[in-house]
Amino acid sequence: MIPAAFAYHRPRTVQSALRLLQLHGHDAKILAGGQSLLPMMKLRVATPAHLIDIGRVASLRGIRLRQGVLRIGAMATHQEIEFSPAVRRAAPALVETAAVIGDLQVRNLGTIGGALIHADPVADYPATVLALDAEFTLQGPAGVRTVPAAEFFLGPMTTDAGPDEIMTEVAIPASPLRFGAAYLKMPNPASGFALVGVAAAIGLDQAGRCAHVRVGITGVASAAYRASGAEAALAGQEPTDETLARAAAVAADGVDANSDIHASAEYRTHLAGVLARRALVLARDRAMASGRRRRSASRV
Ligand SMILES: Cc1cc2nc3c(=O)[nH]c(=O)nc-3n(C[C@H](O)[C@H](O)[C@H](O)COP(=O)(O)OP(=O)(O)OC[C@H]3O[C@@H](n4cnc5c(N)ncnc54)[C@H](O)[C@@H]3O)c2cc1C
Repeated sequence: MIPAAFAYHRPRTVQSALRLLQLHGHDAKILAGGQSLLPMMKLRVATPAHLIDIGRVASLRGIRLRQGVLRIGAMATHQEIEFSPAVRRAAPALVETAAVIGDLQVRNLGTIGGALIHADPVADYPATVLALDAEFTLQGPAGVRTVPAAEFFLGPMTTDAGPDEIMTEVAIPASPLRFGAAYLKMPNPASGFALVGVAAAIGLDQAGRCAHVRVGITGVASAAYRASGAEAALAGQEPTDETLARAAAVAADGVDANSDIHASAEYRTHLAGVLARRALVLARDRAMASGRRRRSASRV
């Protein structure tokens, strides 16, 4: 349980972290909260010769809500997200997600950037960032680019981010609609990671029909995915319990579900449907309540 020897670097800016990454190439790894990387190093699954600790890079910290867009620095910890008033106001489903990650120590140290780049197929955030249409900012030698969550998760521990790039920010846009979202997971009783986790988001039009639906699912397949069949089934529909249940029933359609010692593919598929229905019902109820809140605020 002792990692191989490594050199430790502690840059103060993204630019100097990028320079170190370029200098040491495949021998280097970014260190954020260390909650995934350090266990891998102790098991010697990862043996980077250079660790670049971005914990002192001030520009990667902080959570801001500006002009309707929630901007979360990549080094924001799960706990900072759980207790951030800005996140609670703009994206309460993300609060719900951060609150069920690991234990207090993990939430104190682990960061959203680290979790998204690590892209564990049973991690919690991927489902929620998919449902909330998040965008990630990546900075590398070629400059800065943004990637939508829907194009980011490519496979187990594999993302669109290059090895020479640093994630700097997660941006979540506000919805102009009456909007509600929710994240629910069935935790693996041994590890607490998601056996299956489902995030749902619903935006309602003036007539109370679904104008916007997103369903993000983690734990079922080799990477988190959007349940596009479920989303399509609800487009333009009145979100009754029956239509939500019909949509949830296809949440894992066309997906190659994982089967392992923790759960069979059949069980994961079943859970995806059950949790999708519950998350959609919660999202619908929250969207309706947000409409009621807006109406009563406009009467004051
Ligand atoms: C006991 C335990 C229980 C856990 N339970 C859960 C759980 O229930 N649900 C869940 O989702 N997760 C869980 N985790 C994982 C936890 O959420 C980690 O915090 C997260 O996966 C990694 O974040 P980190 O900041 O610790 O990243 P690190 O471990 O420091 O890094 C992870 C990877 O991301 C890279 N990286 C980190 N930040 C950046 C960046 N900004 N730009 C580019 N690359 C970067 C690193 O090089 C490394 O490859 C658990 C972990 C532990 C130890």
